[in-house]
Amino acid sequence: MTRPATKRLSKSRYCSGIQCTKLLWWLVHEPDAPELKPDASLQAVFDRGHRVGELARERFPGGVLVDAEYWNVKEKVEQTKRAIAEGAPAIFEASFVADDVFVAVDILERRRGGWNLVEVKSTTKVKEPHYPDVAVQVHVVRSSGLDVKRADVMHLNPECAFPDLSNLFARSDVTREAETILPGVPAEIGRLKRAMAGSLPEVEPGPHCTDPYECAFMDRCWPELPAHHVTTLYRIGKRADALLADGFETIHDLPDDVRLSGPAARQARSVRAGSLVVEPGLANALAAIEAPTAFLDFETINPAVPVWNGCHPFEAIAVQMSCHVLDARGPLQHHEFLAEGPGDPRPAIAEAIIAACDGAKTILAYNASFEKGRLEHLAAHVPGKRGALLDVASRLVDLLPIVRDNVYHPDFGGSFSLKAVAPALVAGLGYGDLDIGEGGTASAVLETLLLNEESVPEEQRRKLRGQLMAYCERDTMAMVKLYGQLTKLAGAA
Ligand code: SF4
Repeated sequence: MTRPATKRLSKSRYCSGIQCTKLLWWLVHEPDAPELKPDASLQAVFDRGHRVGELARERFPGGVLVDAEYWNVKEKVEQTKRAIAEGAPAIFEASFVADDVFVAVDILERRRGGWNLVEVKSTTKVKEPHYPDVAVQVHVVRSSGLDVKRADVMHLNPECAFPDLSNLFARSDVTREAETILPGVPAEIGRLKRAMAGSLPEVEPGPHCTDPYECAFMDRCWPELPAHHVTTLYRIGKRADALLADGFETIHDLPDDVRLSGPAARQARSVRAGSLVVEPGLANALAAIEAPTAFLDFETINPAVPVWNGCHPFEAIAVQMSCHVLDARGPLQHHEFLAEGPGDPRPAIAEAIIAACDGAKTILAYNASFEKGRLEHLAAHVPGKRGALLDVASRLVDLLPIVRDNVYHPDFGGSFSLKAVAPALVAGLGYGDLDIGEGGTASAVLETLLLNEESVPEEQRRKLRGQLMAYCERDTMAMVKLYGQLTKLAGAA
C-alpha cells in the first residue's frame, strides 16, 4: 500500500521545527528530497538506534509493542488504547495524537497511579536537545488523558563492559527539565503548524544550522563562500565573525598586523603569496624519523552495544590495518589485515600489526594519537601481546604536526587532514577514484560487514571488502608519498 502524504506535526518534526522552521517546511513539503536520503554513515546511525531500541524493550518484561505500518496512525492509536485497557505493564511505540500532533513514545511504563514516559537514546548521556523532545511527548500524552508522573531518558551506560550487559542502560530522570519547557509547548506547536501551512519561511542561515544537529539542507541555504574565506583560517572559530564584521571576507583582505596563530599566520602568508611555504625547521622535524620506516593506519568500528570482551559502548576498536614499510635496502612492502565475521578480531589484528612493524625503527601515522589509543586498547585485551603492542606504540611518530608546524600550501584550504594535505603536495594523489573514500563510510560499512554480515549478499561482501582494502591502502600510500615529498622539500628549504 502506498503511503498517504501527511502534513501533521510529529515529535521528530517538532524537534526539527524548533531548530529551524525552514527545515521543518522542507521536511513536510519535500519528504523525498535527495538531501534526506541517508548515506551509509547515517543509515548506520538509524540501524544502531533501532538495535538499541529493541534491547531497551527487553528491560520491560510483558511490554506490548504497537505494531502497524508506520504511516497508519489511526491503527497505532487504536492498538495503544487496547494495550492500556488490557493492563499492559509497558507499551512500546505507544502512539497518541493531541493538538493534531502525533507522538510514538519509545516506552510508556505503567506505574502505580500513573505512567512513566521513557525516551530511549543511543547516546552515553542526556543531552540538551533531549528535553524538548521529551516535553512534547509529555504534552501530547497528558492531553490524551494519561497521567504522566515522570519522564526518563534511557541511554547507554559508558561503564558497561561486555560480556556483562546487565548495566547496558542508565536512566536519567528529566521530569524537571521537561516540566520547565512544558508551559511553552502549546505556543510552539501553534507556531510550527503555521510555519508548515504557509509558504517556505524566510530564515537566514546561522549557528542554528549546525546546532544541535547539522541540517541536511546546508547546500540550499548557505551561499558558496569565496576561496580562502576567513572562516577557513586554521582554528579561527568564532573570531571569524569579528573579522567578517570588520569587513575582512577573505584572507587576502586581512591587514598585515592581524594577530594569527603560527599555522594560521603561515596559511595567510602562503595564500597571499599564492605559493607553498616551507619552514627551515622541516628538516629538523624529519630528522627523528629513522629507516626502516613503517606507515600505519587503522580503520575502526565503534558499536553502540559492545560485542567483544572488555569493550564499552561506542569504544573504537581497530578491525582493519594497512602498513607500508619503506627500507632503503629493498622495495616498498605492503601488509594488510581486514577482519571477517562477528568473532573477536583483536588477537589476529594484533599479530598482523606486530609482524608488519617488525624491524621498523620509526612507525609513522597521521594524527597518531588515534593509532596509539587503539594499540593501547589491544595491549590491554590481547593476552601475551601487551609488550609487543606497547613497543609498536612507543615507535609511533605523528606526521600531522610535522606538516602543520612547517608547511602550508594554498590548496590545504585551512585543513591539515591527510586528505587535504597529501593531494595538495603530491601530484596525482587523491581519493576521488575510490568507492569508499572517507573514514565515516568505511566504519559504517565495516560494522555492517562484521556484525550484520547476513544482511549483505556474499558477492556484495566481497566487493565491499575490496573497496575497504583499497581505501586503507590509499591512506598509508598517501603517507609514503607525502613523507617522500616532505623529505624533498626539507632538502630544498
Ligand atoms: S540550512 Fe539553516 S536556515 Fe537552511 S533550512 Fe537548514 S537550518 Fe534552516
